[in-house]
Amino acid sequence: MIPKIYLKRGKEESLERHHPWIFSGAIERAEGDPEEGQVVDVHTRDGQFIARGHCQVGSIAVRVLTFRQEEIDAAWWRRRIAEAYNLRRALGLAGNAQTTCYRLVHGEGDNLPGLVVDIYGRTAVVQCHSVGMYLVRTEIAAALGEVFGDRLEAVYDKSAQTVPFNAGLDPVDGYLYGGPTAQPLEVLENGNRFLVNWEKGQKTGFFIDQRENRELVRRYAAGRRVLNTFCYTGGFSVYALAGGAAAVDSVDSSQYAVELAARNVELNFGPDAPHRAIAADAMDFIRDMDDTYDMVILDPPAFAKHHKVLGNAMQGYRRLNARAIQKIKSGGILFTFSCSQAVSREVFRTTVFSAAAIAGRNVRILHQLTQPADHPVNIYHPEGEYLKGLVLYVE
Ligand code: SAH
Repeated sequence: MIPKIYLKRGKEESLERHHPWIFSGAIERAEGDPEEGQVVDVHTRDGQFIARGHCQVGSIAVRVLTFRQEEIDAAWWRRRIAEAYNLRRALGLAGNAQTTCYRLVHGEGDNLPGLVVDIYGRTAVVQCHSVGMYLVRTEIAAALGEVFGDRLEAVYDKSAQTVPFNAGLDPVDGYLYGGPTAQPLEVLENGNRFLVNWEKGQKTGFFIDQRENRELVRRYAAGRRVLNTFCYTGGFSVYALAGGAAAVDSVDSSQYAVELAARNVELNFGPDAPHRAIAADAMDFIRDMDDTYDMVILDPPAFAKHHKVLGNAMQGYRRLNARAIQKIKSGGILFTFSCSQAVSREVFRTTVFSAAAIAGRNVRILHQLTQPADHPVNIYHPEGEYLKGLVLYVE
């Protein structure tokens, strides 16, 4: 028997609009003692079925898998993974010889809340953000195997850092099937070569979500002296050099990341490329740098992980952007990003606006950027739109 949750009167409204979360405050009572990670049925107070999903401990109590009374079995997982795959085929990403890494499953955006799957060549890297997804990770791996067939050789589970810590599951990262794949593995993105190490790297190994924004950097880079801060493994740096940048400096606080950035540049442009990889704090670097850069990229980690720390985070974004706008050469182009879900597009823009005012420079917005189509936003779950970017022209 599937445990049941009954909502308080009227609390089904957002679910009727297919929002995929149920907050704990909306629940009146539970039947059948649901445990974290279990599939539960959600009913209105009057007993009408409304959704089926994974039960969670915390303010989000249920993450909806389906609004139908259908069995969540192997065939169901296969169908959902196949839907995600078909979308990536339609986007021209699956089976693309020039881009061999892409996001296959983007949580709520693919109607699979709590699950992220990234593809690197013939390996899928799975990250479970919920206990529910973690408990069925072998079924997910099996579904991936069925949908991809021999296009997939390995599935790596990298949930140790993403599964809720207090569930006490003590997850260990490892291969669910196939593997181990030699690390780092070379992948292509728009024809550029990148080494990716999902075992040692951050997130699933690479920041796939900046693919299209990197393309824009390539378009503007010709002849420019580029500073790429929070560079990780040099994604933007490689594109800047591909676009004919005069020189590129890549800065990240992670020694491992900048070493890989240097290797990635060498892989594409040989040992004599005009590139420096610098392990340093980006804030300090920008404070102390000279004013010879005419293209600057700011792609910090999420400063605001929760709404509670939004105030401090906005101060951080403001200070970082003000320093960069102050120092950039006249006629310079600034790419500035925020990947905090808690920071709305409007708030980010206002913050960059006040940074420009602090710096006292004339600034125009050239582009407003977001995440690419393999990170789709469920229209009923606008929270899924997390990546925001502005391209500024500084007079
Ligand atoms: N732009 C990158 C992704 C950036 S992710 C890409 O296209 O791949 C954020 C990066 O910021 C991480 O690599 C992290 O190591 C780095 N980082 C975090 N705090 C930092 C700091 N204070 N100074 C410099 N880098 C920092």
